[in-house]
Amino acid sequence: MIAETSAGLYCEAGGFHIDPWQPVDRALITHAHGDHARPGSRTYLCATPGRAVLQRRVADAPVETLPYGEPLAIGGVRVSFHPAGHILGSAQIRIERGGEIWVVSGDYKRQSDPTCEAFAPVPCHTFVTEATFGLPIYTWDAPGSVVDDILAWWHGNRDNDRPSVLFCYVLGKAQRILAEMAGRADGPIHLHGAMCALTDVYRDAGIRLADTERITESMRGRALARSLVLAPLSARGTPWMRRLPNASDAFASGLMRVRGVRRQRAFDRGFALSDHADWRALLDTIAATGASRVLVTHGWSDALARYLQEERGLETGVIRTAFEGEAGELTAAETMGE
Ligand SMILES: [Zn+2]
Ligand SMILES: [Zn+2]
Repeated sequence: MIAETSAGLYCEAGGFHIDPWQPVDRALITHAHGDHARPGSRTYLCATPGRAVLQRRVADAPVETLPYGEPLAIGGVRVSFHPAGHILGSAQIRIERGGEIWVVSGDYKRQSDPTCEAFAPVPCHTFVTEATFGLPIYTWDAPGSVVDDILAWWHGNRDNDRPSVLFCYVLGKAQRILAEMAGRADGPIHLHGAMCALTDVYRDAGIRLADTERITESMRGRALARSLVLAPLSARGTPWMRRLPNASDAFASGLMRVRGVRRQRAFDRGFALSDHADWRALLDTIAATGASRVLVTHGWSDALARYLQEERGLETGVIRTAFEGEAGELTAAETMGE
């Protein structure tokens, strides 16, 4: 029902691509991260809550939407979007034709996240799963306890008049942290300019976030000494950081689970907060779909596919993407939304 093409996954019976990385006629999009939503296609279709973030990615191209769970006939197939729990508006895409059901998960997680609807397992015959953190070393602590750690780090720095710079991805992670901080933050939170527009989109969607203030050109030094500052990883090591002398820095990413990565990149702290499923959640989710065939993509796909085949007796395959980064690479974090 779905084939791999040079532009990405293609459903011939429906005449559409899913998360294509080249311009196509009709693109169905799981979510608005850069490795899934590329500009240049003629039309886009996504889950309703994802519209505003996707529109920012694709400029003037028309974005059509479909509410979660509502079926739509496209060509000879029936399509519906289901919550993936990854970021605002993220969706699994279910495709049905003549009793055969495929689900393309996009990225997903099973942990709670106040910024998006929780993942719902969708029964299917073939499940296309991500494997960004598809190794047994990846296990996440409860988000609440990670947020406790972030708050304790911030308070410790504040007591010493040091700003706390928390690097995190601009779409999804930053807003999730701000949502977790709502009602818990007891000091100023400042945002790098690159965070502001997307954060406003979340607020406009009615998601409660902690109060924030944009860092202006003149703001530096003492004015930020008691702040928690959220900034994209790309700001690290740039002149922008000069406004924050003596800052303590940290990175919020599933990549921080691995001590070696943390040390090598010399962050003062690493907080393993991920918007992807960990190893156990991947296995549980795959089992919950009841799928007899699992196609694995993104990250540690070979390792996960091998495990599913050898230990679970599933039919498996690996789908390569145009964005194969090393999961341990921080540069990959910028496109992965992690
Ligand atoms: Zn993503
Ligand atoms: Zn992804």
